[in-house]
Amino acid sequence: MSHEPVIDGFEFASAGAKQQGVLPAGDFPRLRDMLASDAGEVAYEIEGVYDERGRPALRLRVGGTLELRCQRCLEPMPFEVQTDEMLVLAGTLAEISAEPAGAHAPDRVLGGKEMPVRELVEDEIILALPYAPRHESCTARPSRDADGKTSPFAGLRGLMGGKH
Ligand SMILES: [Zn+2]
Repeated sequence: MSHEPVIDGFEFASAGAKQQGVLPAGDFPRLRDMLASDAGEVAYEIEGVYDERGRPALRLRVGGTLELRCQRCLEPMPFEVQTDEMLVLAGTLAEISAEPAGAHAPDRVLGGKEMPVRELVEDEIILALPYAPRHESCTARPSRDADGKTSPFAGLRGLMGGKH
């Protein structure tokens, strides 16, 4: 079992604490299906703050490059993650559901004594990933067989070739 950093959310916020680190892409189990490989890593910085309404919060910045799979050519493609979010701590789940939802509503997260930093970082990465990643100028063309006709199985073959 690797070292799992945890923070006491409310304590961290009131102390104005700061923590930073680097996590390899392979450390995020929920990302595994979305990544083309374990290549890459992300750096994070988490800081205890108060929001503009005086509520304890965590400011979380995440940056790094991961390898996604282009949904058009199925080749790996680098994807740069760059997020900077304020997570306002809540004491109970009821407090979170009582908050009116809206575009300007802050992200709420349940504060606890042992909040796993890796999972907070993983959540931010998942939110930042594109739904259907593609190379900006993907050069994939429908594959053709020797006589120049498009094979009806070209797409299928591409999919099968993309499996691990
Ligand atoms: Zn592509």
